[in-house]
Amino acid sequence: MISYFSDRQARHAPAMELQNGEMVPHAECHARVDAIKSALPRIAITEDHGMAPIQAVHEAAYIDFLQRAHADWVAAGRPGDAFPYVFPIRGRRPLALARIDAELGQYAYDCGTPVAEGTWEAVYWNAQTALSGLDAVLGGTACAFAFCRPPGHHAGRDYMGGYSYLNNVAIAAEHALRHGAKKVAVLDVDYHHGNGTQDIFYEREEVLTLSLHADPKSDYPFYWGHADETGAGAGAGYNHNFPMPRGTSWVAYKPNLLRAIDRVQAFQPDLLIVPYGADTYAGDPISFFNIETEDYTAMGATIAALDLPTLICMEGGYAVESLGANVAAFLTGFEA
Ligand SMILES: [Zn+2]
Repeated sequence: MISYFSDRQARHAPAMELQNGEMVPHAECHARVDAIKSALPRIAITEDHGMAPIQAVHEAAYIDFLQRAHADWVAAGRPGDAFPYVFPIRGRRPLALARIDAELGQYAYDCGTPVAEGTWEAVYWNAQTALSGLDAVLGGTACAFAFCRPPGHHAGRDYMGGYSYLNNVAIAAEHALRHGAKKVAVLDVDYHHGNGTQDIFYEREEVLTLSLHADPKSDYPFYWGHADETGAGAGAGYNHNFPMPRGTSWVAYKPNLLRAIDRVQAFQPDLLIVPYGADTYAGDPISFFNIETEDYTAMGATIAALDLPTLICMEGGYAVESLGANVAAFLTGFEA
């Protein structure tokens, strides 16, 4: 399978994150890059599509913030990565002071997503990688893999969180709609709910969003991903969540995947985008499903049976020693 990646995506390298009350090494680490690259036989060069596709999804003020947040943090005399630490609780007045501390809280919803020195460069090229994979699929390639890193599916129009800054999948979906696609389906199979993607398309009927994930009653991101979130306005009925309990194995996962696939089939999209996270893996250090490496081939084959032009975008997956094998197993399912 043709894959896309830019080495400039590796410029994002935050040192630490706040997890369970401790500062710990950032799980979305640089070692993921080599682990996944080793599993990809053919990596094509990411092409630059410029800012317009990013601006079509994300708010201008948020893009501006991402571009300068780390420099502003350093200018304020702070060491290391830029971290939010004060958040506008519901009902408080909107941002009035252009001070980096206030802005970090305004645009972040967690403390796991610091802005490091190379973050903007990396996430810009990350989006370009998704767009380059999309070009291949729109150009007639049946399936392409965009090795997006860092992940993107937790990023909303004007917020970052969950290691995500720009929403690569949403950028690709919107770009496809502006270049001939009438309907796009997004089938998210990361361990965590794709809250950013859901939010961006929540009131849109031309993008069907589906997410299979750990029940937000027990797992991050808690405030999104429940089964009763089904879209609003013109998008009512075009968002589907499939929350599952911790410990879910492939046997229990597959019936939900088949239900999601039935919905995709009924929608008849021109394009399918699959945000793939290998953090559903039994050995993932920060997640709690029980899917094994060989199950990913079955998962890939089950989705590939839809026989739609498909762009796969990498999301999470933190068991670095098994990550290459889990990505390879999933992609193999598409080629069988
Ligand atoms: Zn995840």
